[in-house]
Amino acid sequence: MIVLKTRSELDLMRIAGRISAQALEVGGEMVRPGVTTAQINSAIHRFILSQDAIPSFLGYGGFPASACVSLNAEVIHGIPGSRVVQEGDIVSIDVGAVYKGFHGDNAATFPAGKISDEARRLLDATRESLERAVAAAVPGGRIGDVSFAVQSFVEPLGFGVVRKFVGHGIGREMHEAPEVPNYGTPGKGPRLAAGMTIAIEPMINAAGGDVKILPDGWTVLTVDGSLSAHFEHTVAVTENGPVVLTKP
Ligand code: MG
Repeated sequence: MIVLKTRSELDLMRIAGRISAQALEVGGEMVRPGVTTAQINSAIHRFILSQDAIPSFLGYGGFPASACVSLNAEVIHGIPGSRVVQEGDIVSIDVGAVYKGFHGDNAATFPAGKISDEARRLLDATRESLERAVAAAVPGGRIGDVSFAVQSFVEPLGFGVVRKFVGHGIGREMHEAPEVPNYGTPGKGPRLAAGMTIAIEPMINAAGGDVKILPDGWTVLTVDGSLSAHFEHTVAVTENGPVVLTKP
């Protein structure tokens, strides 16, 4: 069932989204050669607590950290630890915060120092695919319109859409209906209505879209070893059009 949010609930989600976005900024500003992924996570964790919010990811399904930090060929769900970020790495940070019972969720991929032209193209394309998908989240539209906005932009560039993981509704639960795939057909799927809140999160690989999961049970990485990027916003569908809730 898709849960529509009231105006006052959207106000709380806006705060949760703002905290989540600022937490992502805190993490992104730390990305540079020499930092460990655990240091990035610690800074994010402390920031969220300082905002009287709770890290959505910590303990979720047993996840041991407040942020996912995924490097290079890792797509999502990287577990922060002692690994040191190197010059030229791309670092995907995914973080959510719950405030007064409502969740925000967002992600971005950051460059560490100077990155390759291919990595730069992948980051730019994934970010733009998210912007196009957000623009498609209008009342009366369909989830398939959002999905197609991602797929139709990145595939002609030679990039691969990850299909095994998808975006999602969000609200009192971090993951609610509907699913929001990054591939699909315009005019298909659940209809978008004012009051819906969805996390749109293109996960785009430099080559094929196939992924595998490491023995740690969490880390998702590309099967072919190609780079992967991930950008995400929590978005409200409103009568006035899409509103990005994960804004700093
Ligand atoms: Mg998400």
